[in-house]
Formats: sequence, structure tokens, C-alpha cells
Amino acid sequence: METILLVAGDGIGPEIMEQAKRILGCFQKNMPLELIEKPIGGAAIDAYGNPFPQETDQVARAAKAVLLGAVGGPKWDALPLAQRPEKGLLGIRKALGLYANLRPLTIWPQLANFSPLKPEILENVSFTVVRELTGDLYFGEPRGLENKDGQRTAFNTMTYSETEIRRIAITAFDLARKGRKKVCSVDKANVLETMRLWREIVEEVHRDYSDVELSHMHVDNAAMQIVRQPSSFDVMLTPNMFGDILSDEAAVLSGSLGLLPSASVGGTSALYEPIHGSAPDIAGKDIANPIGMMLCVAMMMESSFNKPECAALIRQSVSDVLDSGMRTTDIWSSGTDKVSTDSMGKAVERRISSLL
Ligand code: NAD
Repeated sequence: METILLVAGDGIGPEIMEQAKRILGCFQKNMPLELIEKPIGGAAIDAYGNPFPQETDQVARAAKAVLLGAVGGPKWDALPLAQRPEKGLLGIRKALGLYANLRPLTIWPQLANFSPLKPEILENVSFTVVRELTGDLYFGEPRGLENKDGQRTAFNTMTYSETEIRRIAITAFDLARKGRKKVCSVDKANVLETMRLWREIVEEVHRDYSDVELSHMHVDNAAMQIVRQPSSFDVMLTPNMFGDILSDEAAVLSGSLGLLPSASVGGTSALYEPIHGSAPDIAGKDIANPIGMMLCVAMMMESSFNKPECAALIRQSVSDVLDSGMRTTDIWSSGTDKVSTDSMGKAVERRISSLL
């Protein structure tokens, strides 16, 4: 029996998690899956005074995979940084030793009119941003704010060890090998020593992957190419901060934040979460788009359970439901059928069951 930890979190988290449970339910008939639900984020602060309670930590470490909704919301915004819901997210990533975030971008042809880009630029766009998660400016020391020469001066440190670069590069090359065999490594090697080391190590790792094509691109050019020629990318390998920015830029191409899944990997188990936040503005209204969350289950089936056929079934069913004209509010346009979060989840569940 394999365990999946479900941490719904806050805002729309519980609403979209219900739809993920429907999808998992379709496969539970043929797969011995145990689903355990625990709190995280604001919900855990309310219940235990801690955004990442010990019992959530314990189950996460023992689980084969973790499925997370989203955390955060205005209710907890006034808390000191160390006690905020986001600490739950950082806590679970750290507990599981996750150092790589994978964000695949798919353009659904049925929704191409929601993308800010022209349809001809969107043709054949399908790439994954592989973002390093544990190093870079976000974690580098020293960092701080001090008074220097009579004025406030702040500083952060961009730092990477070769071990950190090597393991994320291996993740990217392994992934590329399963697809179109192309890695584009993003850096700023022309001005930053850290990024020069990044490029050097990526090239070293590449020697073991001669079947994969490697290119390097400066981050400013990458930001431009994502909107000019997105179909040229297969796997985009990035350091932490550049990936943070570029993966959000890439997400816009899909037309809605509610459509995209992500996986954080590298540790003993993996964490799957949609790329959006807790969307407090629409929470409790049954209008959130659950597709990103349902596609997290597809990624989980493929990567954690080695069931690519289940992943394909989920993706096909989402596509069929979109073909049928059903749309949540964020992807609705006149001539299509506006449905609730729950109805969208049920429709995909029905389609999967009919294809199984
Ligand atoms: P957000 O992603 O929650 O929402 C941005 C906009 O997109 C909102 O208008 C929202 O209604 C819409 N949206 C998001 N997901 C949607 C969906 N599935 N269907 C339809 N519309 C959707 O970002 P935000 O408003 O900046 O942040 C809200 C809260 O979420 C904050 O507390 C923030 O800290 C937190 N947050 C959490 C995560 C996470 O848990 N991984 C990520 C980002 C933000």
C-alpha cells in the first residue's frame, strides 16, 4: 500500500483538492493507495499554532508523494514572517529535501484565445522549466541590512556549490532524455562568477549526456525568447531566482494560472502542487479552476508511481472535457458553458471512468 499525503491548505486549496481526490478515486480501484489528509499553512496555524505541524511532517516523510493545494491568505498576513503560512511550504520542501522544481507548460489549443500571444507563436509550444530550489540569492549568506557611511545598505549573496549545480543539471538532462532531448541552460555568465561556475558544471554534466543537445542562454535573452519563440524550448534549466521569474512569465502563455501543475523533486518523495496561490479573492465560491490541480495528479502518476498510462488518461480526459465546451470562470468566453469547480472535477472524473 502506497501512501499519498494530501495537504489542502488555505483559500481555494480545499476546493481544488476535492477534485484531485475524485481523480485519485478513479485509480484507487486498481492501485492500493492510502490517502491521508493533514493541515498545512494557515489552516495548521489555526488548528495547531504552527504552519507545519509535527504530524504533517511525519506523514510527509513516510509518504510516497505529497499533493498540496496552496497556502496563505489575508487572515494570516499580519503574523511575523517566521510564523506565516508560507513557512509551512518552506518547511515541507526542506523536510523532504526537494531541490528541483519542474513546471511543464502545455498550451491547450481549446484555450489558445486566452493567451496574450498570437496563435502562430503558440504552435508546438511545450517545455518544462527546471528550477533549482535551495541555493542562489534566496538562501545565500551573508545577507542583511546595515548602516554604512550614514545610509541604509542592504545586501544578499548569490552562491552555488558545484554539488548543487551538478544535481539540478542531472535532473534537467534526465528529463530531456525522456522528451525532445534539448536542454537550454539559463545563466548570466557574462557578468557573474556564480553563473560562470554554473555554466562550467552544466557543461561537465553534459559530457555524460551526449545524446542531449545543450545550449546556454543569458537570462535577459531567455526572457525575450519565451515570448518570441517559445516553441524552441524543451527543457529550460535555471538557477533559483531566474527560474522564479521565467517560470511565471512562461505560465502566462497558457492563458490562466489555474491550468498549470508543478512538481518538486530530489528527495525521498516528491511534492506536487498547482503553480497558483490560494486565490483568497475567489475562495469558497466554487469557481476556482481545478485543472492545474488535477494535472498534478497526472504528474504524480507518471513520476512517483511510474504509471504514464494513468497520466495520459487524465490529460486526455481534461482535453475531452474542454472539447465538450465546459469552462470555469477564468477560462470562460461566450459560446462556452460556464461551470463550477465541482462540476469540472466531476466531468473529468466521469470521463476517466468511461475510458478506464
Ligand atoms: P494567486 O495565485 O492566489 O492569485 C492570483 C490571481 O489568479 C487571483 O485573481 C486569483 O483569483 C487567480 N487564480 C489563482 N488560481 C486560480 C484558479 N485555480 N482558478 C481561477 N483563478 C485563479 O496569487 P496571489 O493573489 O498573489 O496570492 C494569494 C495568496 O496565495 C497569498 O497569501 C500568497 O502568499 C499565496 N501564495 C501561495 C502559493 C503557494 O501556496 N504555493 C503561491 C503563490 C501565492
